[in-house]
Amino acid sequence: MSRNEDNQPIENVLLHANPNPERVDCPTREELIALALRVREASDPLWNHVSGCSPCFADVLDLQRKHDVQPEEEAPRRSWIWLAAAAALFIIAGVAWYFSSSRSQNTPVIVARTVPSTVLDLRPFAVSRSEEVAKPVASLSLERKVQNVVLVLPIASAEGEYSLRLLDADLSPQLSTSAAAAVVKGDTSITKELDLTELPAGRYTLAIKREPEDWRLFPVEVR
Ligand SMILES: [Zn+2]
Repeated sequence: MSRNEDNQPIENVLLHANPNPERVDCPTREELIALALRVREASDPLWNHVSGCSPCFADVLDLQRKHDVQPEEEAPRRSWIWLAAAAALFIIAGVAWYFSSSRSQNTPVIVARTVPSTVLDLRPFAVSRSEEVAKPVASLSLERKVQNVVLVLPIASAEGEYSLRLLDADLSPQLSTSAAAAVVKGDTSITKELDLTELPAGRYTLAIKREPEDWRLFPVEVR
């Protein structure tokens, strides 16, 4: 029996939206099986991870197909979670598109507004692979406000377009955007206006990636 065609667009989004090649914070195989076979309930918090992690999502789909778990029996609530996650990604993409397209126009949209700047110096964090979160040399923190965040990238980081994400404790992206890095006085840095007013305070992971490199992860406290 074929899977519900209506789920296809959402599946496609979730299968590609959140690449997690190093499988950071992924549930165990046993847990994924329990989710796929619905041993765990639709309200299980692990679903939050799965909806924000494309490889886990793919694993669950695959397991359900192998075990012939019928999507028709699917708890409507979980469809809603996935739909909400997909909708959030579209909204984030839309907002990112809006900002990048308004940026690229020549007319300065806002002239008089001043936004405070916050510098996050990532140079002491030497980790270049995403499987380990960098050990904090000094703690990185951001306040819950609108600000120009200046990321001073680790030594020898290349210029170019970077993807930026702020991941919560479940490694679900709470903020997703992109920005160009430029070399200024020998340091590669990214400046991006971020609105953190809606984010709950807590521990987050800043993830940055320049194709075709791996994600690089940095612990950040939002307060
Ligand atoms: Zn995962």
